[in-house]
Amino acid sequence: MTKAVITAASRGFYVCQVCEQLSQRVSEVAHYCVRCGANLHFRKPQSLQRTVALLVAATILYAPANLLPIMRTTSVGYDQDDTILSGIVTLWSGPSWPLAILVFFVSIIVPSFKLISLSLLVISTHRGGKWRLQERAALYRAIDFIGRWSMLDVFVVSLLVSLVQLRGVASIHAGFGAPAFASVVVLTMYAAQSFDPRLMWDRA
Ligand SMILES: [Zn+2]
Repeated sequence: MTKAVITAASRGFYVCQVCEQLSQRVSEVAHYCVRCGANLHFRKPQSLQRTVALLVAATILYAPANLLPIMRTTSVGYDQDDTILSGIVTLWSGPSWPLAILVFFVSIIVPSFKLISLSLLVISTHRGGKWRLQERAALYRAIDFIGRWSMLDVFVVSLLVSLVQLRGVASIHAGFGAPAFASVVVLTMYAAQSFDPRLMWDRA
């Protein structure tokens, strides 16, 4: 036998996504926040579809972000293209190995973790059911927490560029991998934002 669960949404309550003001839906018209005027929804509109679209775009761009050179170093009569991985290998073999670990973490581990875990959340939410709901909620909180540090990836890569620049008479230019990598960061950030974790509980 299933128990009827009383939720805020079933009682007509919703929270503003911008200022978190609690409102109650009293009529079928005008759903705007009384405090900030934002449009109110019980759930983020087309949450799963938007998240999937952003994830697909991010996954496609993940390949050029890692395969194309992220920077081109030009010194006297000598050009060198570096991808994220080859940059990490260069850093690892020198005295800046702690930076190699940091770059590896924020530019390889973090984006992969976000892509894989968001895909897992979208698929499991789409299928519905109670499978590991608590763990899935915790996973979403982890992604949300990492999201605040998203720009760290871009920051570290720019730090990498300035470090190489300092090393000698060389000029650095961003390669095609750089905009692809920045796009992956921005797209996964928006994907995490457009996912509504309450859908997991709705569909359970
Ligand atoms: Zn509001």
